[in-house]
Amino acid sequence: MHHNKRFATRCIHAGQSPDPTTGAIMTPVYQSSTYVQESPGVIKEDYDYARSSNPTRKALEANLASLEGARHGLMFASGLASLAACIHLLSSGDHVVLCDDVYGGTFRQLDKVFKQFGVTYTRADMTDLAATEAAFTAKTKLVWIETPTNPLLKIIDIAAIAQMAKARGALLGVDNTFATPVLQNPLALGADIVSHSCTKYIGGHSDVIGGVLMVNDDDLEARLRFTQNAVGAVPAPWDCFLLLRSTKTLHVRVERHCQNAARIADFLAEQPQVERVIYPGREDHPQHAIAAKQMSGFGGMVTATLKGGLPAARAFLERVQVFSLAESLGGVESLIEHPAIMTHASIDKPLREALGISDGLVRFSVGIEDGEDLIADIAEALAAI
Ligand SMILES: *Cc1c(COP(=O)(O)O)cnc(C)c1O
Repeated sequence: MHHNKRFATRCIHAGQSPDPTTGAIMTPVYQSSTYVQESPGVIKEDYDYARSSNPTRKALEANLASLEGARHGLMFASGLASLAACIHLLSSGDHVVLCDDVYGGTFRQLDKVFKQFGVTYTRADMTDLAATEAAFTAKTKLVWIETPTNPLLKIIDIAAIAQMAKARGALLGVDNTFATPVLQNPLALGADIVSHSCTKYIGGHSDVIGGVLMVNDDDLEARLRFTQNAVGAVPAPWDCFLLLRSTKTLHVRVERHCQNAARIADFLAEQPQVERVIYPGREDHPQHAIAAKQMSGFGGMVTATLKGGLPAARAFLERVQVFSLAESLGGVESLIEHPAIMTHASIDKPLREALGISDGLVRFSVGIEDGEDLIADIAEALAAI
């Protein structure tokens, strides 16, 4: 429903219609594990047992699919459960090509969970197409990328990697969490699977964990749908309801995240305590041209390296007041974190340094508060260094 409407209208209406029994405008939380059958095997729509199908979840899946421009959406209990469903498409002996500064939990799942079942991986700096090509083997079945990456906000050329994957007979999965469906639609650029941690911008209020996969191919949808039910990492109806509420404001929130982030990136670039600012919307970003080509805005994440390493970063992070020092991202409230000590601590220091995650690096998840207040907060904390 409403698939032919523009983005903002689809945020609010796609996948939802008034409840047939009461006319409730909000899709109810169908908190029922089982459904009554008229006769053995005769069920209403496809509802028999709630792991397999649930009306609140179905509305959310249709809503998110519409926003991503996909034929199918499949909800999971977390972003990492979505990833696991993709890896379950593979068999022992298959190989995955991963981008190098991939989300820590994605790396951990491949390295610590699926490696023991014989699925191997190679990491590549995918801003370098030759290095990416060299990472393929005869057994490569899946390429998994994030763009912008975390925390270095590198931009990977989705269309170029999609062509490469296709030529080698591998699927391309794009973790679109940082960009959101508002700013970037990888399926239109040739990707086979789009995944989001709904915990971040799609949820947007730091109060729910969830994941979604979006695909166009019917056969791929059937295989993933089988895994959703057979492995069973499905979200609760209440969490689906919260996410349906969230997507109604996704477009408005993301627009403000982008405005505030761009202002903060420009402000940071002028400060004497700052060595380097990374923001895909700035012309000094090494892949700014690719970002401008494949994104319609540059997102709410900003990364900066402070002069003075860990002591400077620590002083700054202890001093901010409007920004909260916490992991995660994508909520309405501004968060700040230290990747080397917090989100990326599980990566060995030599590898971390080689990737560019230095001790002076801080990552801002810029919220939707008043931009003046955010800038004043950063200015005061920088003065403490
Ligand atoms: C948070 C995150 C994930 C994992 O999602 P969960 O919902 O925490 O399981 C995956 N990818 C990216 C880019 C993330 O930021």
